[in-house]
Parts: sequence; C-alpha cells; structure tokens
Amino acid sequence: MIISEQKSREELLESIEDKNRLFLVGCAACATACKSGGEEEVFRMQEWLISVGREVTGSVIIDEACHIMRAGRDLRRHRDQVEEADALLVMTCGAGIQSISSSSEKRVIGALDTLFLGNIRRLGQYEEKCSLCGECILNETAGICPVTNCAKGLLNGPCGGMEEGKCEANREIDCAWSLIFDRLEKQQRRGVFARRVPPKNWGKTGKPGRHKIR
Ligand code: SF4
Ligand code: SF4
Repeated sequence: MIISEQKSREELLESIEDKNRLFLVGCAACATACKSGGEEEVFRMQEWLISVGREVTGSVIIDEACHIMRAGRDLRRHRDQVEEADALLVMTCGAGIQSISSSSEKRVIGALDTLFLGNIRRLGQYEEKCSLCGECILNETAGICPVTNCAKGLLNGPCGGMEEGKCEANREIDCAWSLIFDRLEKQQRRGVFARRVPPKNWGKTGKPGRHKIR
C-alpha cells in the first residue's frame, strides 16, 4: 500500500491562498486505508475549508485515484462542480494527483505527502520493506530485503559498524544482514553469501517506469 499523510494546515493554507472555491478529490484505496484521503478525511477537509472562508463546490472519492481512466471518468461525472471550482484539492498519493492533473486543465493542489510503499503492521502502523528496486534479490536473502532494511543498502553482507546484531545507524534496530545471516543459517542455505553480488543495476528503476503485462 502507498503510505501518505496530510500536509500541515499551514502549508495547505499557503497553497490555497488565492483560491476561494475548491473541488475535493479523495481515494477509496490506499489513502482511505491510511486515513489521509478517504471519505471521512475529505469531509473533515471540507469542514476546515469552510472554517477558513473557502467554498467547496463538491467532492468525489475515486475507487483508485491512480487509475487514470477512472479518475477522468469520475471528474467528468462531476463536470459542473469541477468547472465552478478555482482549483482541485487532491487528497491522494502523488500517482493519484497526477491522474487528476492529466484529466483536468484546472489547477491541481496536492493535499498529501506520499511517503513509501508500506506493509501494514496494524492500523496506523506501517513499515517500509521494499524500495521497488526492479531487480529483486529476496530469494537469496531469506526473504529480508537489504536494499530497504539495511541503512546503507549494502548487498554483500554487513558493514563494520554492526554490533551484537544491531545496526550502526540506529542501535535500537536489528542489522538487516545479521537477520539475513541467521535466517539463512536456520534454513541451512548460503543464499547470497555464496556469491559476490554486483552493484545494483539502478537502470532497472529508470524513470518514469512503464510496464506492460502481456
Ligand atoms: S530487492 Fe528489496 S527493494 Fe528490490 S524489489 Fe526486492 S524487496 Fe524490493
Ligand atoms: S549495521 Fe547492518 S543494517 Fe546497519 S548499515 Fe551496517 S550492514 Fe546495514
């Protein structure tokens, strides 16, 4: 899930400084799950906007705002309310914001900061486990990602700073490579330690990513 959080009200106020009428857009997927841009948050945003003297012309919660066609379709369904607005205030991740900006000529203002691809520990508690590097080595690292979980993103075992299984960058946190080693040992495998891993081919994450599933 894409983890996002709302920008501060001060920052939002600056962004809407010269905008009096706003149309609100939320997302029923990730932004709803992490309580940054679901129905409830859109409603609260509306209340806040009214309290600071703005008019809300309408709102929509798109099923998945990152779905470009769906975003365009939902905006067309609210054409009049969108037209009345000076700007669209979009409470989705950056991908959703760009679905909206590619579907409307209106000024689009993002109300959220997009943080990372997150695993859910429990509601409101998320952990970054994968950095979408495009060349996954989990099969050789006992299912623990060193690219994301090692503070230095090391690919060939721990740095010299590891101490009693804890990370040099934060002694409260387990060293990813210590975890990988222990788990491989339990599985009686050598995994990634059987070879020298070449430097990561970051070209695989070339931006902007485009992918077609055949
Ligand atoms: S190696 Fe790590 S960052 Fe790369 S795809 Fe696998 S889990 Fe994600
Ligand atoms: S101590 Fe371990 S997790 Fe921390 S930076 Fe070094 S190798 Fe990475």
